[in-house]
Formats: sequence, C-alpha cells, structure tokens
Amino acid sequence: MTCDFSLGHYAELLRAARAGGYECSGFDRAPEPGDLILRHDVDLSLEAALAVAELEAREDAWSTWFLMTRSVFYNLASRDGAVAIERLRGLGHRVAHHAVWPDVDLDGRFDAVVAWHNPDPETMQADIPGAVNVMQPPFFDQGHYRSDSNQHWRHGCPHEELAAGGFEWLQLLTHPEIWAFPGATMRETMESMLDADRAARLEHLRADRIDLS
Ligand SMILES: [Zn+2]
Ligand SMILES: [Zn+2]
Repeated sequence: MTCDFSLGHYAELLRAARAGGYECSGFDRAPEPGDLILRHDVDLSLEAALAVAELEAREDAWSTWFLMTRSVFYNLASRDGAVAIERLRGLGHRVAHHAVWPDVDLDGRFDAVVAWHNPDPETMQADIPGAVNVMQPPFFDQGHYRSDSNQHWRHGCPHEELAAGGFEWLQLLTHPEIWAFPGATMRETMESMLDADRAARLEHLRADRIDLS
C-alpha cells in the first residue's frame, strides 16, 4: 500500500478504520472510544469536496464538511454552492462552517459547529458563542488528532494505526483538494486543480452567454 494523496488511498484509509473497528462520528456529542470523527476543511474547491463526499458515501462513511462563506476560491452563495450543500446533506454528511477570523457567518446552511481557517495559535481555541469550536476539548487534543496539511502528516499516514485500533478515538482532518486532484507534490496537485478550474470556468462563461467563438 502506498501512502499517496489520492482518492484510492483515501478509500484505503477508510477501510483501515473500519477494519480497526472505528465508526463515524460527529461534533454533536463528546467523543467516545471507537469514534472516527472525519473532518474536512474545504479551503479551495467544492468540486474536490463532492468527489471525496461521494467516495465516502460509497464506502458507507460520513463526515463533517466545513465550508467557507468568505473564500476567494469559491462562492458558497452561488448556485454551485447551494447544489454542493444539498448534495453533501443528501449523501448523509454534515455541513459546518469554516470561518475566517474574526467573522463567524453561522446561518441556516450550517450546523452550529465551527473550525477557524488558518488560525493563529491564540485564536485557534477561542470560544464561539452558540457554536462548537472543533479545536476545543472535548473534540481536540494532540493525541487524538491527525491532519494532512500540505500533503504532510506530522506523525505519518494514520492508516496502519487505524487498522490496528491504535487510537482510542480520532479527529481526522483532511483537505479534499489534496486527495481529489492528481499530483505527487503539493505543487503538482495545485496545478491539476487549476487546470480543472480553467475548464470549469470556460463552462461558466458559456453559461453566462459569453461569446467564446
Ligand atoms: Zn497510508
Ligand atoms: Zn482552512
């Protein structure tokens, strides 16, 4: 098994967790032994989010999707954004808010659960009135948390530890763009994402009645 950042290995990770006896869980109650809390921060691409969400549904898994309202990369208020939320919920996933400090735009689209985007160490665990901050106890502590940031697992890919039942419970943060687009490095993966984005934007231009003849 190769620990690359591909949809194939993401599926293997989910199967490893199932083999280790874990079950999917969310942020609506304190973690219990055997919980696997799948968390996705969607920083760049709703298309990538849907690709991973569909894969999880095929693997009988579900997760919590943290979506931005102030992203420079996608517009959650667009038709595509509304369709993405509907699809995520339709697949049995949960939808929460990926907020940019200090603005929290919790509204009816989201469960009352927030993860800060690129937080400073001081703000990461700041209280959010009326909402769960996923980086606060009981959902967060170093021993029960793994993240794939920039295609780098600080403690190695967790698939073996999951298969062996090595975590009491785990909050696993993954960024769908890293897994959905091909590339052996972060740079290559981002280039793949930009290529796909160009094709998608050409379609948007056509749909907007822009003359591309
Ligand atoms: Zn692995
Ligand atoms: Zn983020």
